[in-house]
Amino acid sequence: MPKTRTSPAPFTATVLGYPRIGPRRELKSAVERYWSGKIDQAELLSLADSRRIADRRSLTAAGLSSVPVHTFSFYDQVLDTAALLGVVPDRYAGIADPLDRYFAMARGTAELAPLEMTKWFDTNYHYLVPEIADTTSFVLNAEDIVAEVTAAVADGTPARPVILGPISFLLLSKPAGSSVAPSTLLDRVDELTPLYARLLVQLAEAGAQWVQLDEPCLVQDRTTVELDAVRHVYSALAGAVDRPGILVATYFGDPGSALPVLVDAGIDGVAVDLVYGPVPTADLSGVLVVAGVVDGRNIWRTDPDRAQDLLRQVQQVCGAVAVSTSCSLLHVPYSLAPETGMDAQLKSWLAFAEEKVGEVAALAGELFGTGVGAELLMASRAAVQDRRIAERVHRPWVQAQLQGIRPESLRRPDATLRRSLQAARYALPALPTTTIGSFPQTPQVRKARADLVAGRIDKAGYESQMRAEIAAVIALQEDIGLDVLVHGEPERNDMVQYFAEQLDGFATTVNGWVQSYGSRCVRPPILFGDVSRPQPMTLSWSRYAQTLTAKPVKGMLTGPVTILAWSFVRDDQPLGETGRQVALAIRAETVDLERAGIGIIQVDEPALRELLPLRQADRAHYLQWAVDAFRLATSGVGVTTAVHTHLCYSEFGEIVGAINDLDADVTSVEAARSHLEFLHDLAGAGYRRGIGPGVYDIHSPRVPGTEEIADALRLALKAVPAEHLWINPDCGLKTRRPEEVEPALRNMVAAAQIVRETLTARR
Ligand code: GLN
Ligand code: ZN
Repeated sequence: MPKTRTSPAPFTATVLGYPRIGPRRELKSAVERYWSGKIDQAELLSLADSRRIADRRSLTAAGLSSVPVHTFSFYDQVLDTAALLGVVPDRYAGIADPLDRYFAMARGTAELAPLEMTKWFDTNYHYLVPEIADTTSFVLNAEDIVAEVTAAVADGTPARPVILGPISFLLLSKPAGSSVAPSTLLDRVDELTPLYARLLVQLAEAGAQWVQLDEPCLVQDRTTVELDAVRHVYSALAGAVDRPGILVATYFGDPGSALPVLVDAGIDGVAVDLVYGPVPTADLSGVLVVAGVVDGRNIWRTDPDRAQDLLRQVQQVCGAVAVSTSCSLLHVPYSLAPETGMDAQLKSWLAFAEEKVGEVAALAGELFGTGVGAELLMASRAAVQDRRIAERVHRPWVQAQLQGIRPESLRRPDATLRRSLQAARYALPALPTTTIGSFPQTPQVRKARADLVAGRIDKAGYESQMRAEIAAVIALQEDIGLDVLVHGEPERNDMVQYFAEQLDGFATTVNGWVQSYGSRCVRPPILFGDVSRPQPMTLSWSRYAQTLTAKPVKGMLTGPVTILAWSFVRDDQPLGETGRQVALAIRAETVDLERAGIGIIQVDEPALRELLPLRQADRAHYLQWAVDAFRLATSGVGVTTAVHTHLCYSEFGEIVGAINDLDADVTSVEAARSHLEFLHDLAGAGYRRGIGPGVYDIHSPRVPGTEEIADALRLALKAVPAEHLWINPDCGLKTRRPEEVEPALRNMVAAAQIVRETLTARR
């Protein structure tokens, strides 16, 4: 069929999206002030406007020939799309103000539950899951986006509005009400297509040459039916008259067979991730390929030679090419400029969002021969070379230690033998009670840490405050009557950063904030070189805690996979290799703890599920190295030392086999919601060791009653033999208040007592 419209002019340099929390986390402070009533809506809206204006001007000034707009969000871009399409569950209908309704969906209110929040693909960003009911009718609310594009165009911005595409929107949503199977939501795509078509026309009228529809779900395995839906929707959208150029953005991996489907549908451009996916082999001659050669989710400076090589390969198969980032820059910090304390060498190896925009412009300058950015690329080439041979990165003795790892280094003695010797060491009651590790981080604890950082108190003063806190937490647990105690982790700002600060091979930043969800930001450490542990990291705290009580105090460590998942990791060696280095450091810590008399050591792996590759075909390999890293970290201790682990974020379905393979003596899980099914699955995978399914949900301030917990225990006993069952909350208590924690734990211990009595009665 002849094309009835002329294709939009291609552009040459862009990024797929930009951070939005503000260079100094302005968004965080503004929304939090709005939530607590300290500023009004007008002030909040004006802050948002100034962010949008500042970002589009700086991206245009940096030389991008197409600039993403509508990438700002007060909370989350998936929630924004739900609002754009009128997908608002009935329970919020009573809230008239659109912004307040939006925040109610994000955070809940005293009466209303929020939308569910879940991980954004394999990143540490979380999105809100739209609820679509049979009764939901989609309506387009395009005023805000149209106004933003109009303003941006008037401003001289080559604006390219970014919206989540219809396929990913439906696939990421969940059906409301239990009767509908999730896969059927895609059936409703025909209702969305006309809305998207109308939106495209309105955006074109507002002056957008191009519109970017994000379809990250296309890098996951998709069924034929789903690919048919892709073909169907995009053919319809491409067929609309008076529309702008349609760029479909895939990212985080290989779009595979979805790519030819998109191209055949008649869209004008595709964005492909060339950092985490291959150069496409499909015939892309009719389209603009937006080539993601600058890593959008890691912080390394781009190797220009590698990037140009990829760009030239892409040029072989496509109509036109534009230089871009692999995904939105949402996942990296704003700028290196505030990192004034970082040494110049490390800094020269890095690029945050602002620097990555410069790289994109310079790579385009080189590719298209404009000469823009030649100096920058020269510096990049030098930095990449320097990093490749730097002594602080490549430390032969660390690598030699890896060579020394034998298959036996990953194996512990037989689990049944461990079980009986460990039982003899500590005479624990049936259904032993414990907690996951952290106790409330009180204002005093936070203040002490801030005082230390600001130099208001010295290290000795800080340590004595932490010891006092540990002593109080131990005394409280004794009084409550818990069986296995913890020291409470008051000394840890964060369960990964705490270790990163003490391990060689890691660096931390002062302002490297990245959005995790809503107003919550994290500052991931940077793992830049071979990892080693110069000295013990947790030993003195654990040893001190153990002197205060005759009951066992668990040593508390973060596992290698979680340390990797919540850090920026090396891109110059396989992740599994880095994992083994971190594992050896943790292993050394376990050996020190054991030697100091700590007989139970918990190694937390809450992020085990999070790093699971998006495509089925890659999962076995990941699970192999992840399990091996955990086992390497935990197999250095003797038979009488119990290794515990803790996992959160439910959805363990696909990894039950791996959980079994970790070979921990006791596994505690956040499974407050879907207990039984998971326990049966785990037993089905052959798991016959200790298990502590969280008996109450710590994410809510509500104090669970004794009977309620006892019921949960009785239920768990239907799936787990009594001799394997442990009693614990479902996660750490760090975010709760002391007045919630104490009664909840007392009730938990009382519930354990009640159920224990029925066990003895039965015998
Ligand atoms: N031990 C950690 C704590 O209790 C575990 C935290 C987690 O599961 N994310 O805080
Ligand atoms: Zn947890």
